[in-house]
Amino acid sequence: MKIDVLTLFPEMFDGVFGTSILGKAREKGIVSLRAVNFRPYAGNRHNTVDDTPYGGGGGMVLKPDPIFAAVEDLLEGQAKEAASAESGQSLDEQQAPKPPRVILMCPQGETYTQKKAEELAREEHLIFICGHYEGYDERIREHLVTDELSIGDYVLTGGELPAMTVIDSVVRLLPGVLGNATSAVADSFSTGLLEHPHYTRPLDFRGWKVPDILLSGHHANIEEWRRRESLRRTLERRPDLLEHADLTIKEKEWLQSVRDQKASRDI
Ligand code: SAM
Repeated sequence: MKIDVLTLFPEMFDGVFGTSILGKAREKGIVSLRAVNFRPYAGNRHNTVDDTPYGGGGGMVLKPDPIFAAVEDLLEGQAKEAASAESGQSLDEQQAPKPPRVILMCPQGETYTQKKAEELAREEHLIFICGHYEGYDERIREHLVTDELSIGDYVLTGGELPAMTVIDSVVRLLPGVLGNATSAVADSFSTGLLEHPHYTRPLDFRGWKVPDILLSGHHANIEEWRRRESLRRTLERRPDLLEHADLTIKEKEWLQSVRDQKASRDI
């Protein structure tokens, strides 16, 4: 997968792209990660990328021309790379590269979820646009981007931290990135539920003990306990997720019994 980020602060990405799981994924060649400064695409003497809003009012607005030019340059580069890779192939073998997703980071966008991360992890090329200042010229939204993503109902100073959040959650889903291939499958939200609790050594920490079932060595019973704890945790913390979860009749009955017990305790 190829990921390009258009930003005015590419140096913010050095640590994140070069460290831990993202750094290793990059070293292994699973993902190419690039932060590109779009200021040099301004095409004016002072490399100005923002301007005052038409109609007046406070705040500066990101101009459309530098951002369009930067995206178009990335697309041209991609087309050239594809052409040179295919130059030795017959016409039948040549495949047009899949167009990239051009993602605008924006508090007004679709709220980002694990489902969206799974969708983006199936793409070949992602381009992120990080805003700053008051906003974007509306023509960027209307004529350039394929997705607008928000990481939550709060406002940050720029799109860099939101883009890093999305990139991290997508890259860890790519095959070969996580050491244990099953660990992303059982994660919270991937299953539609919150994950079960975990314990490790010591067995007894300040008198707080690990549940006996986890020491039993009985895999089926441990799996059943984990599933129930996952259901219990979801019921307690995110009952909204249960509305869409894929549950067996037995699990629904068990959840009802937990609700009934709680109701009788609360009386
Ligand atoms: N005036 C804008 C509004 O009310 O929607 C907020 C602009 S914000 C100060 C500057 C930039 O930070 C945005 O263009 C966006 O790139 C990024 N940003 C801020 N909060 C965000 C969020 N919750 N999710 C994604 N991007 C965000």
